[in-house]
Amino acid sequence: MDLTTIKEVKRPESVDMVAWREGYAWLAGGTWLFSEPQLTIDTLIDLEQLHWPALQISEEGLDIAATCPIVELERFVAPPQWIATSLLNKCCHSFLASFKVLNTATVGGNICMSLPAGPMISLTIALEGIYTLWPREGSPRQIPAVQFVTGNHMNVLQPGELLRSIYLPVTALTRRFAFRRLSSTHFGRSTSLIIGTQDRHKDDLLLTITAATSRPVQLRFDQVPSTHELRSCIETTIPETLYFDDPYGTSAYRRHITYYYAEQIRAELAQKGAWA
Ligand SMILES: Cc1cc2nc3c(=O)[nH]c(=O)nc-3n(C[C@H](O)[C@H](O)[C@H](O)COP(=O)(O)OP(=O)(O)OC[C@H]3O[C@@H](n4cnc5c(N)ncnc54)[C@H](O)[C@@H]3O)c2cc1C
Repeated sequence: MDLTTIKEVKRPESVDMVAWREGYAWLAGGTWLFSEPQLTIDTLIDLEQLHWPALQISEEGLDIAATCPIVELERFVAPPQWIATSLLNKCCHSFLASFKVLNTATVGGNICMSLPAGPMISLTIALEGIYTLWPREGSPRQIPAVQFVTGNHMNVLQPGELLRSIYLPVTALTRRFAFRRLSSTHFGRSTSLIIGTQDRHKDDLLLTITAATSRPVQLRFDQVPSTHELRSCIETTIPETLYFDDPYGTSAYRRHITYYYAEQIRAELAQKGAWA
């Protein structure tokens, strides 16, 4: 849609050229920004001209620029031992109206939207990502992905602060995983998206619960818990009020699905199968 409040679109070659003020907004893929009126915004600052390399592989892991188009992540071919990278493709196809958003939106734009159904959030938390943030003043700071989203459409970014990149460590990329997602239609918005991962040589479990709750929740177990242990850990960690409620599912339904999928993931990763 046309954004009638926008007076200027800036295309800086460096973010240092931007003197931030109220009314400014970073523009990534624009799939959300151009989807509804933006009455408080008068200037867009396009991140595309910064030309950050989208994906950089090293022995330590994968660096994803915030401006990396989601479609590029979907096409990424990883070293074969990075078995968890199948999750990239699964999460890239976990959008409502997948193909439209997939081709234009960016990884960072999805994370900064901070919606419960943000699949790039689910992905980067499950793969133990570290986000690099660029405040408008002061030094860059790094935070674990799991600490970034604080609620529905809420996160830790300060005014003008930029998400620069996401780092996924090789230790997470080489873990086995189990993935469960529920949406009311095939290309629907996620009602629940839960991912479990496990070290191939250990008996641990890292469970990441997203979309069902207004902010992501991660549970870490040194050993795969019993059904009862898992259930009571979820009960203690997730209060009823944290389950999200919208037209894609009531909070009671999301709570039910969380237990159901978490147990499936637990049982799947408790078996040492072909991955080991
Ligand atoms: C039909 C349709 C279906 C959708 N389905 C989903 C869905 O299933 N799940 C979901 O989560 N979202 C969905 N969305 C919302 C949105 O399109 C996606 O979240 C998308 O990934 C946003 O990415 P973008 O690059 O287009 O961000 P933009 O629209 O460009 O920006 C989104 C917000 O993030 C800010 N921003 C962008 N990049 C940065 C950065 N690097 N640092 C700081 N701030 C930044 C922008 O200022 C803006 O506030 C949907 C939208 C539409 C129109």
